[in-house]
Amino acid sequence: MKLTGNLLIGAQEVAGTSGSMKALDPTLNVEIEPTFAFGGIEEIDRAAQLADEAFDSYSHTSLIDRAEFLERIAEGLDVVTPELARRASLETGLPVAQLEGEAAKSALQFRQFSTVVRQGRFRQATIDRAQPERQPRARMDHRMQKIGLGPVAIFGASNFPISYSVAGGDTASALAAGCTVIVKAHNGHPGASEMMGRVIQQAVKDSGFHEGVFSLVRGGGNEIGEALVDHPLIRGVTFTGSEGGGMALFRRAQQRPDPIPVFTEMTSVNPTFVMPAALAARGGVIGDGFAERMLVTVGQACLKPAILLAIDGPGYLELKAAMISRVEAMQARTMLTPGIFTAYRKNVERQSNAGARRIAAGGEPQGAWDGQSILFEIDGARMLENPALSEEVFGPAALLVRVRDLEQLTAIAKQFRGQLSATMHIDPADHTLAARLLPLLERRTGRIVVNAFAHPQEVSYASIHGGPFPATSDSRFTSVGMTAIERFLRPVCYQGFPDDLLPEALRHSNPCGIWRLTDGELSKA
Ligand code: NAP
Repeated sequence: MKLTGNLLIGAQEVAGTSGSMKALDPTLNVEIEPTFAFGGIEEIDRAAQLADEAFDSYSHTSLIDRAEFLERIAEGLDVVTPELARRASLETGLPVAQLEGEAAKSALQFRQFSTVVRQGRFRQATIDRAQPERQPRARMDHRMQKIGLGPVAIFGASNFPISYSVAGGDTASALAAGCTVIVKAHNGHPGASEMMGRVIQQAVKDSGFHEGVFSLVRGGGNEIGEALVDHPLIRGVTFTGSEGGGMALFRRAQQRPDPIPVFTEMTSVNPTFVMPAALAARGGVIGDGFAERMLVTVGQACLKPAILLAIDGPGYLELKAAMISRVEAMQARTMLTPGIFTAYRKNVERQSNAGARRIAAGGEPQGAWDGQSILFEIDGARMLENPALSEEVFGPAALLVRVRDLEQLTAIAKQFRGQLSATMHIDPADHTLAARLLPLLERRTGRIVVNAFAHPQEVSYASIHGGPFPATSDSRFTSVGMTAIERFLRPVCYQGFPDDLLPEALRHSNPCGIWRLTDGELSKA
């Protein structure tokens, strides 16, 4: 696929009016072709106008037409996967094989959301039939369904340049909900972003939809992101990235004359709790498994386990030795962007200054943006004195906490801010302790894992990739999994409507054949 570096505004290629950039190959620290255009307020306004024009027709497409559109995107991703993975690898330093896996996950997400659309349950069609004879007051016919929010802005993430980016789960779930989408590409992988944007643009055309269903914009500095969040036609925003960036955009959206929902996914250290019987039985295995996961994708994953808390006792030294051995064997590897590398170095320094002891280091950096793997250790008492140690270090570093007893463990757990996930390693003899910790974890995290090392997030119906602040800005929703669609929906009630004026999902004959809640009973009748 030929890259032009243009913005994709609806069906148009737009050269942009606000400067340009080249992608960086972070492994060799050299710029790569082509030149990518930056848009400004003018391009944002054009994309938003088109997205608004497209919304009414797109949100009223039949479930089948919308599902087929999502399948077309998946097929387009299948076709470009080899070159998409190569380009993304060039721009991020991540291995091609890993990125092929991401592309497959992206295509799968579009297929899964196509199924969600066909099933139609996302509409949550609900019918309370009229009760003209009801006393003391007759009830009118009330029917409710969920519809798309409107045009939405999606900020692509840097760390999963395909599956959380232009063709990631946010875009798939927003399009499934019936929203029109403007993606703000991350400047860490502009070429890969353009490739995915072209796949979606082509699918819009092949489906015969209004061109404004999808646009891809790019900018230098905060101006373009701010313009998107401020634009009066934008009705919702999703973001994956730093807490500073996410909260700046969140606050901005709340200060609009008409505040809009912003779903940010920001920061999580995904604490791991190792209980005494499990530690004694398999401390070495747990230490090895944890260190292996913390180093995956150079530690630049939202689900990276970054803090391990173990109650001191038999097995602790084996656990520590296994962690040290993994970390020391790891070569330094290229980080995603110079900015992320710089932040990593600063945050490693912050941990040292806060009293964490460096107990292992991986190979020395060779390239300009190579992140060296680091393992810190600290005692539970010091951890309690310095809650800053439980902040994220985005990169291949982790902290081992030697805890005195369950009382100290729960005190530390209470200090944690909201998390995407938490893990407990337990044996049957630990169940009583685990049951005491569980309510604390439920209040602080969106996912609790037992006896596993946080795997890449499943995209399924029960998946939750969310959690209390600052893991996300709205703990009621997930950004991954089939229920991620709920972020982009809102309910509308139709009262006293004649059948032919009702939306299809709510008509008497149920022409969509979907599950509906009629007078409190689920049925397809
Ligand atoms: P970022 O700096 O927050 O940027 C993410 C996106 O939001 C970029 O497109 C950026 O645009 C835009 N943006 C950020 N702040 C903005 C603002 N105030 N106004 C308008 N737009 C804004 O995240 P990043 O570049 O991906 O990585 C930086 C740090 O974020 C990492 O070091 C890490 O700590 C954290 N991070 C965490 C996760 C996680 O899942 N926990 C994932 C990725 C990153 P520009 O680039 O054009 O400024």
